[in-house]
Amino acid sequence: MTCSACRAALSARLDGEPSHTSAEETGAGRHLAGCADCRDWLAVAQRLRELARSAPGPSPEWTRSLLAGVLGLEAPPVDRCG
Ligand SMILES: [Zn+2]
Repeated sequence: MTCSACRAALSARLDGEPSHTSAEETGAGRHLAGCADCRDWLAVAQRLRELARSAPGPSPEWTRSLLAGVLGLEAPPVDRCG
């Protein structure tokens, strides 16, 4: 298995894609055991995914500041009464 094929299989697994086969899994695992580059790549990929998961999502305030700052528009006040 090549590095790129291994990383594609690992990436799919990180994304939770069910499409990979067990053969790919085994091949990726075997490749990882012998390839420090891909182990480093996997560590970085997992860290990035954790950061993306823990990042705060857009809030009404964030949206307003984006509109005001980027578009130069004043967004309507946030309706907190729903
Ligand atoms: Zn590799």
